[in-house]
Amino acid sequence: MKIWDISPLITPEIAVFPGDVPFARHVSMQMPGNNLALSSISTTLHLGAHADSSSHYHKDGQGVDRRALERYLGKCQVIYVTLPKGERIRPEHLKEKIEAPRVLFRTGSFPNPNEWNDDFNSLSPELIELLADKGVFTVGIDTPSVDPHDSKALESHQALYHRDVAVLEGIVLEKVSPGLYTLIALPLHLKDADASPVRAILLEEKALTL
Ligand SMILES: [Zn+2]
Repeated sequence: MKIWDISPLITPEIAVFPGDVPFARHVSMQMPGNNLALSSISTTLHLGAHADSSSHYHKDGQGVDRRALERYLGKCQVIYVTLPKGERIRPEHLKEKIEAPRVLFRTGSFPNPNEWNDDFNSLSPELIELLADKGVFTVGIDTPSVDPHDSKALESHQALYHRDVAVLEGIVLEKVSPGLYTLIALPLHLKDADASPVRAILLEEKALTL
């Protein structure tokens, strides 16, 4: 079975939103000498490939522990979009027929997970409305946010809340061709959390029958 790993490697170098808590791993025991290796981490939950929960962007939202796992598991469509820097993906940029309830956008606009750039592409609220009308309940993007870097109103996050669409951010789709796959990207069972890192993978479509 072909597995596409769509999660960036997590290291202290991975870029997080400016001002957010960076990733660090603290080693408390090490081999040889100790009979065990033991460590802990400190980090923003918005780390690498991650699921935002609705409590991140709305006062009435849910913690990530209450999100239905079906959002992050099942038939999924990868769509390529090439746009000028900083632009939102709008309905007119969508050329493909939507064939799955989970849709991931590859923009190539945040090419290095270890190097922050402000001018990544994002989603438009109109696109989220259109996708929700077509039965999409999860969207993903290969950038750190579904809204532009400097957005204060966070219109796309608000649209996600109002249409109850789940979201994956920070995924890596550079090696993945457009088309249909099975997505597995389960959040941790973190009570009341606003987000969770995920190990996001895609399985080739034929695995759907397994
Ligand atoms: Zn996030």
